[in-house]
Amino acid sequence: MDLDSLPPVGLSSLAVAGAQRLRHQDPVLHDLLEREQRRQSDTLAMIASASWSDPSVLACEGSASGNITTEGYPGRRYHAGCEVVDEIERLAIDRAKAAFGARYANVQPHSGSTANQLVMTALLNPGDLVMGLELAAGGHLTHGSAVSFSGRYFRSVSYGVDEQGLLDYAQIERLAVEHRPKLIICGASAYPREIDFARFREIADHVGAFLLADISHIAGLVAAGVHPSPVDHAHVTTTSTYKQLYGPRGGLVLVGRDADLRVHGRPLTAVLQNAVFPYFQGTPRINGIAAKARAFDQLNTPEFRLLATRILGTARTLAAELAARGWPIVTGGTDNHMVLADVGARGLTGAIAEQALESCGIIVNRNKIHNDGRPARIAGGIRFGTNILALRGMDDAAIAECAAIVDQVWTSLTPLDDTDFLLPDQVRQSARAAVATLCWRFPLPA
Ligand SMILES: *Cc1c(COP(=O)(O)O)cnc(C)c1O
Repeated sequence: MDLDSLPPVGLSSLAVAGAQRLRHQDPVLHDLLEREQRRQSDTLAMIASASWSDPSVLACEGSASGNITTEGYPGRRYHAGCEVVDEIERLAIDRAKAAFGARYANVQPHSGSTANQLVMTALLNPGDLVMGLELAAGGHLTHGSAVSFSGRYFRSVSYGVDEQGLLDYAQIERLAVEHRPKLIICGASAYPREIDFARFREIADHVGAFLLADISHIAGLVAAGVHPSPVDHAHVTTTSTYKQLYGPRGGLVLVGRDADLRVHGRPLTAVLQNAVFPYFQGTPRINGIAAKARAFDQLNTPEFRLLATRILGTARTLAAELAARGWPIVTGGTDNHMVLADVGARGLTGAIAEQALESCGIIVNRNKIHNDGRPARIAGGIRFGTNILALRGMDDAAIAECAAIVDQVWTSLTPLDDTDFLLPDQVRQSARAAVATLCWRFPLPA
């Protein structure tokens, strides 16, 4: 077949021609991509920071809009030929604002980390003090960790969680009063409970700090209205778009009621615009922005609200089912999509618990939990998330089956050291079969 004779017009024909050409001209890469797609549908992913993009989102990502090189913002570009992509970016901005009730949105950040970086730079001077949740207690690298820019170009103090693993707002306030940070960051990568954004703003106002809410993990619950929104509490809100927004890899910056605020004598929103471009980024990924626009549009649907409700329900069921089988759950349960199991308390390490499940087709990640002395590579916890199980449409009975498989695998293994273990072959075989059946009964949406 002469592939080049295929009409190179239209979104679909370009995608089909591209996939066919890849198969013929680069079978190695084609097969790897095919294998990865199959792996995703044939395993149960319970990675809390992952989701699964609708094919319409992937179609935007793979579109020719990504060929456009430009800089700047709609109506104020540094290249000609942008009349269409300007409309794409405006659509993404309008949909982001509508989905989160925001007054300002910047859809250009290449990632959530970049979004945090540019907000911190917009609001602070080098060496200013930031205060965020400690990495080991569930915070993110960009919230002041010494191994990230956020702890190197800024000074940082951390707040932790209490014995139960809960945020202690009185302690946070005491630390803020003592250290007088210029910026307080709230939001987490491993915190299964509701975050009181209003309380955080009170604390920030009390010490004259800016408040950044990073909702990378819970943005979908926030958009659906099943977790309180920080958008009108924080000065600035950031999120990744590939986690609970089921969108492309990328970041988003939002401002709510503080949109008219001035910082360093300039409007906050203008400072943020400049912090994205020209300060940190060059050309925007227009195909990524189109994919964000598609994902944001889906947030305003009754179907998404149902999905968000299911995410919460499945997480609560998973936490209860694991707890009923004797696995200690950090904070005793969950208010979001995350469940943190303290496997160290039962003689396992996170590394072993993760690898044993992976060998059975259940994909999770090891995670440090508070009071966890082990290094992050080993860790004492496992972080589960239900974004993808909920998208598969799993009901409580199916989640109970997942918990039973996890329990069976974890109780059957023999640790050899921190990372090595033995798992009887017949346990592995029966777990794999059960996973395969669940994947077949609850397929990813086509
Ligand atoms: C995942 C995450 C980020 C980083 O997002 P990337 O898009 O992967 O850079 C930032 N903050 C929090 C709280 C996260 O969980």
